[in-house]
Amino acid sequence: MLVVTKFGGSSLSCATQFAKVKKIVESDAKRKIVVVSALGKRDSSDTKITDLLYILHAHLKYGVPYEDIWEMLKTRFLTIKEELGLHHAIEEDLESLKKELNKTISEDYLVSRGEYLTAKLMSSYLGYQFVDAKDLICFNYDGKIDYNLTEKKVRLAFSEYGILVVPGFYGAYPNGSIKLLSRGGSDVTGSILAKCLNVSLYENWTDVPGILAADPRIIDHPKAIKEITYEELRELSYMGANVLHEETVFPVQSLNIPINLKNTNDPDNPGTLIKNVCDDTSEIITGLAGKKEFVSFNITKDHMSNEVGFLRKALTIFEKYHVSVDHIPSGIDTFSVIVSATNIEKCQYEIITDLKAELGAEVSLDSDIALVAVVGRNMARRSGICGSIFETLGKENISVKLLAQGPSELNIIIGVSQKDYEGTLKSLYKNLIA
Ligand code: ADP
Ligand code: ASP
Ligand code: MG
Repeated sequence: MLVVTKFGGSSLSCATQFAKVKKIVESDAKRKIVVVSALGKRDSSDTKITDLLYILHAHLKYGVPYEDIWEMLKTRFLTIKEELGLHHAIEEDLESLKKELNKTISEDYLVSRGEYLTAKLMSSYLGYQFVDAKDLICFNYDGKIDYNLTEKKVRLAFSEYGILVVPGFYGAYPNGSIKLLSRGGSDVTGSILAKCLNVSLYENWTDVPGILAADPRIIDHPKAIKEITYEELRELSYMGANVLHEETVFPVQSLNIPINLKNTNDPDNPGTLIKNVCDDTSEIITGLAGKKEFVSFNITKDHMSNEVGFLRKALTIFEKYHVSVDHIPSGIDTFSVIVSATNIEKCQYEIITDLKAELGAEVSLDSDIALVAVVGRNMARRSGICGSIFETLGKENISVKLLAQGPSELNIIIGVSQKDYEGTLKSLYKNLIA
């Protein structure tokens, strides 16, 4: 039995957190593959190492003095080394990185050093072999993971060393140059390693008691979810529950490897188990998630519903500008295309012009949309859920701008004005979950 154990930045912020990690790893001999993120925040006013590295890169690129940032970075790593009395010569790694700093240094390479250096410290502390992610996680030039090659390399490293620490968040192209995953990507590294070794469990250790039924930054002490399916988690994380990267489930799902999300600060708490099938039917709604900053292109034309191909023509225009579409609620001679605001920042006027010219339609833009997802596998084929949602929001005087439900009935998406976003989450949590 083998377990991949990933620790997020919040579990790696200082020497005290490192000590908790060591205790956890040593308490179960199955924890042979450890993945680490970069050192995280020590308190809410602190800066993550990854963010410092992005800032450092910007300073280098624009030729702004960067020495203060470099000192902050260096001190974080040196302090942990000193406080834990580690033998690894991290100052030499830092010195050689310092020599590489210049105007044209690759952003992916520089930012990946957060995980790289953290893994060096952790490997020295645990006595596990450091294996560089650039030698394991292999990307094709199209940016996709080459799973065959990655699996070969991961299996080889595991058979050679038996116990290893791997930095998360990056891999390499065939020519060896570093490629980052997207933010929060160490979760995905753990998942890829779990798949390649077909382990019995992927543990993801963070700073909350599990996946919570709502964002703890908005809802005071939301309930922790005991069990959740891969699909439900995917819906929640896609819709903003960024406790786990939204891509985390894919590598492990097909092999049915469960993910256990656990709290480094409370290791005896069972946390949340994420798996293919959950038998618990006690909760109808599993959780809520949401995001602000969506926009709606509202498209209207008389007799549109009789015009074959109208929707396709509209969507082709979004495709032309590489904008992915989130939802398309529709009426008889009108429909809306809901997209994330960040995706249309540079092309919203071009899209409106094209829609008008090519469809002969009236087009208006509503840029005040927040989406809230109500997710639950037990909602399917159960009546009255939308009724309860409308009743709850009606009592709070919150007007619903759009409503969408996927065919799986796993989630209901509600669009509201951004000013009502927090109120929507709070009232739904209080009336439907708490
Ligand atoms: P790590 O550093 O371990 O990778 P992250 O900061 O990426 O941790 O994710 C954990 C954080 O996710 C929590 O501290 C919490 O603030 C936030 N979060 C947002 N939504 C949820 C949710 N539904 N359940 C749990 N945590 C959530
Ligand atoms: N350190 C990276 C980030 O802050 C990756 C991760 O934490 O998973 O996004
Ligand atoms: Mg994370």
